[in-house]
Amino acid sequence: MSTPHDPNRLSAQEPALAFIGLGHMGLPMATNLAKAGLKVSGFDVVEEACEKARGNGIDASADLTKAVEGATVVWTMLPNGDLVRDTITKAMELLPEGTLFIDSSTISVVDAQELGKLTSEKGYYFIDAPVSGGVVGASAGTLAFMVGGGEDAIQRAYPLLDILGGSITHCGAVGSGQTVKICNNLVLGVQQIVVAESMILADRLGIDPKTYMEVVSNSTGSCWALTKNCPVPGPVPESPANHDYQPGYASALMLKDLRLAKEVLEQTGTTANMGMQAWQMYETFCEQGNAGLDFSAIIRLIDEKKDG
Ligand code: NAD
Repeated sequence: MSTPHDPNRLSAQEPALAFIGLGHMGLPMATNLAKAGLKVSGFDVVEEACEKARGNGIDASADLTKAVEGATVVWTMLPNGDLVRDTITKAMELLPEGTLFIDSSTISVVDAQELGKLTSEKGYYFIDAPVSGGVVGASAGTLAFMVGGGEDAIQRAYPLLDILGGSITHCGAVGSGQTVKICNNLVLGVQQIVVAESMILADRLGIDPKTYMEVVSNSTGSCWALTKNCPVPGPVPESPANHDYQPGYASALMLKDLRLAKEVLEQTGTTANMGMQAWQMYETFCEQGNAGLDFSAIIRLIDEKKDG
């Protein structure tokens, strides 16, 4: 579903929006909201991130109190659930009832549900609105939003999500956006590994990566982990493999997502052998000092096994 948004009407409805977490995803998201004509302030604990944001039309500072002043919407894009909870708890002390909180970070289902309860008990609105599409989707405004929350909050958030989203799916009550996101990333973690395994095998059998790409991207093995995030340099010039595996999506974040999947797999008594193998591989890879590399760099761990 998609509706054209009217920046004037939207600004009248939400006179100021505070964006918290101006990293790989948050910066382009906040930038696109500012470009759409909204008054956007920002907060990040890293001054360099604030500086970049100021260059993009965002009134950013390393001071949460200043950033949320006058905001009717607070949008978080942070590395984990504890940070989201801390931020929202502090922001609730500073902002009146009725403020809308949108969290697009990937956090646990339980954290999202607890935040939903905490905010609604105090008269605030909250939706979990995690995303898929990566930095490319964030920059292009084509993110896939999976949203959990009450109808009122979602109706209010919808025109804002629409600025950044290629698709917006209401998945159910608060927490259900995270549920779908975690299921998606369980697939992605496994796919990124198997694409790497398959490309190493093809290489050892003498197949050029470009030939491999031409065939597999047009065959049943095609997937985002190959066509957008190809782990081998060359076939997809913009993939992190061509830029020393700078993220993109950091391995530490993929490990976090697979941990979140592990939690809900255990809670529901669900078996996921491939997913849990992927979790172990990312754990090893991060322990080896690679947490900051894009998760497609997992190919290095797999390639190492040749000598083992
Ligand atoms: P990132 O590490 O690039 O950005 C996070 C930002 O938050 C950093 O700039 C950091 O300085 C800032 N930060 C940390 N603690 C803070 C605090 N207390 N207050 C304010 N700012 C703080 O991470 P990212 O790649 O942008 O990912 C952010 C979230 O989005 C994660 O939950 C991730 O799982 C999710 N996500 C990322 C991608 C992707 O492709 N990178 C895709 C979908 C979802």
